[in-house]
Amino acid sequence: MHVNGETKIYAIIGDPVEHTISPFLHNSAFKATELNSIYVAFRVIPERLAQAVDGLRSLSVKGFNVTIPHKVTVSPLLDEIDPSARKIGAVNTVKNTNGRLMGYNTDGEGALMALEEANINLKGKTIILGAGGAARAIAFTLVKHVNEIVICNRTEAKALELASELRKHTDIPVTGKKLDFQLSSEELDDGDLIINTTSVGMHPDIDNSPINTDVISRNITVFDIVYTPFKTKLLKEAEARGAKTVPGINMLVYQAMKSFEIWTKKTVNVEVFFKAATNALERQ
Ligand code: NAP
Repeated sequence: MHVNGETKIYAIIGDPVEHTISPFLHNSAFKATELNSIYVAFRVIPERLAQAVDGLRSLSVKGFNVTIPHKVTVSPLLDEIDPSARKIGAVNTVKNTNGRLMGYNTDGEGALMALEEANINLKGKTIILGAGGAARAIAFTLVKHVNEIVICNRTEAKALELASELRKHTDIPVTGKKLDFQLSSEELDDGDLIINTTSVGMHPDIDNSPINTDVISRNITVFDIVYTPFKTKLLKEAEARGAKTVPGINMLVYQAMKSFEIWTKKTVNVEVFFKAATNALERQ
């Protein structure tokens, strides 16, 4: 690729961003599609978010991802928000069309695609651990595809609030409760799906799991959206008990693919993203 005056620029903003692997994913996709574009990471501290967003707008940066801690606070700085991102209350992808910034959220779609690609049965109960930004994106997307949702969160009030918001959009049973390390065996039926969206188990907290896996059996699926390490303690234990598992890298790859499509209207073979993600994580 030749970087010249016509090179289109894409970015990710967050704090910290030093360890983000998104540039590897998107730059590989630009190479595969032979688009004259580059993707760079900018550390933006919360106090400078408004200035940074204005700068990206006026420098004609064509699109950018938004990560922790700006996914919620970026919304009022944009011109328009896609209805599903508005419901979720968080934006992870922004498209800049002639200075007009439109916000999207691809996390939920990324999670859904990761589950569909692994042929996971979505007709059992879906137990979501956590009620933060990723949980919201996943819950608002899956609510249209599953038969029951239980949200379990360390801060119970947030679980109850998310459950109550979800109930406004669905007729399926949705409940919220406090996250208990000890899941009761009565709570789990064959065919159920557990999704960890808490940061428990994420590097450097690799010796912890959000739940005791004693009650997990082979007919349960466990999806952990944490992707550092590639296989979390929760996933390792669930696998040892014969459960079907889905790693967080799959969601990471599909949410990136969705962002790329929003910006470029081009679909890239998902293997391009997988290869880039695996290589980048191995190097870390
Ligand atoms: P967030 O909004 O800050 O939410 C964090 C969640 O984790 C909250 O529910 C929080 O509970 C819970 N939590 C934190 N520490 C905990 C602990 N010690 N015990 C129990 N619960 C705890 O963060 P987020 O944006 O949702 O991201 C959450 C995780 O998902 C991160 O690890 C992130 O890297 C990962 N992620 C992965 C992808 C992907 O593509 N694979 C995409 C987005 C995020 P409280 O409400 O009680 O604080």
